[in-house]
Amino acid sequence: MKYLDQVEVSGKRVFVRVDFNVPMDKSGNVKDDTRVKASLNTVTYLREKGARVIVASHLGRPKGKRVEEFSLKPVAPVFSALLKKDVPFIDDCIGEKALAAVAAMKAGDVILLENLRFHPGEDKNDEAFAQELARLCDVYINDAFAVSHRAAASNTAITKFVPVCAAGFLLKNEIEYFNKAMGDPARPLAAIIGGAKVSDKIKVLENVIDRVDRLVVGGGMAFTFLKAQGYNVGKSLCETDMLDLAGTILDKAKAKNVQFLLPVDVVIARTPTADADVKIVDIKNIPDDWMGLDIGPATIATFSEAVKSARTIVWNGPLGMFELAPFSAGTFQLVDAAVASGALTIVGGGDTDTAIHKTGKSDRISYISTGGGAFLELLEGKTLPAVAALG
Ligand code: AMP
Repeated sequence: MKYLDQVEVSGKRVFVRVDFNVPMDKSGNVKDDTRVKASLNTVTYLREKGARVIVASHLGRPKGKRVEEFSLKPVAPVFSALLKKDVPFIDDCIGEKALAAVAAMKAGDVILLENLRFHPGEDKNDEAFAQELARLCDVYINDAFAVSHRAAASNTAITKFVPVCAAGFLLKNEIEYFNKAMGDPARPLAAIIGGAKVSDKIKVLENVIDRVDRLVVGGGMAFTFLKAQGYNVGKSLCETDMLDLAGTILDKAKAKNVQFLLPVDVVIARTPTADADVKIVDIKNIPDDWMGLDIGPATIATFSEAVKSARTIVWNGPLGMFELAPFSAGTFQLVDAAVASGALTIVGGGDTDTAIHKTGKSDRISYISTGGGAFLELLEGKTLPAVAALG
């Protein structure tokens, strides 16, 4: 696979697939420009090289039809302001309008095309639609890591029809950091896996157990493992149909000499609410009508120790219901442990990212992935179709 800095782009028409799937407020304005900012390295580099930069993205799920609330038009002024350069918005991504706009571009110009998903061919990875996109450009750059686990015309089929294809700087970072952490890591390598359900993360657990030295499991999913070990988990989240699988994973960890850390104490409440009465109990003492909503202080201490002495850390999923203050200490203190470790730390998944932002310590984590689903699929050991298409 080639990277952007390995291909000739000067004077070329360069199509850049970005992820501008930004949250919008009720009046149709961009609520958070993080994803737009994430594209700036690649777009600025291309401008400086004298490329003509054609930027395309999806927004929301318009399902192959033009739906005004999913128009990318409100993103153009935000993008222009960040780039300090006027970015004309073109209200289609293929056809005469798009071709004419591209033909009028000069070196260093940038245009933003309308939502790719207004055409049904996008999500179907349709070759005819991909060929229409390919007509706009000489070089194709994929910088939309967050959608690279789904084959679409603008990230997979298009690579068949553009002679020069490469990964942009954001995609490069994602792949390089992930490979550093999971490919040939400095050891010990610890994975922290949390979140609500075992069923969502089972493939992740099965894959990482073959690679890590330590597996730290918290969040709602820990209770399925505790139940599999014979503990009463009360009203905690527990997937009874996953108990056998949880047992198999525990056995595998033992056979492979992987340190498998589960909570030893938990913060419990009768209801998952911010004003609920809470107690800290040993995992042997969870009452029937109470639920575990965070890891307890003894667990925080052992988890933190395992994390602080690791040299590489991969993290997906919060360790408790961190959105509510009484259940946030576990996740937040593990952020401190990761920061204190000095280890290469890679974090992915929307909730984990939100939790780390809440602590204000995002810039002290080596890398926070821009992809939720795509990051999980990498952790599952899968090859992402849009990345494979660049190979
Ligand atoms: P996931 O998307 O699978 O990473 O799950 C994230 C969600 O899991 C967050 O919204 C947390 O509030 C929730 N969560 C974490 N720990 C618990 C728990 N012990 N009980 C219920 N929900 C939890």
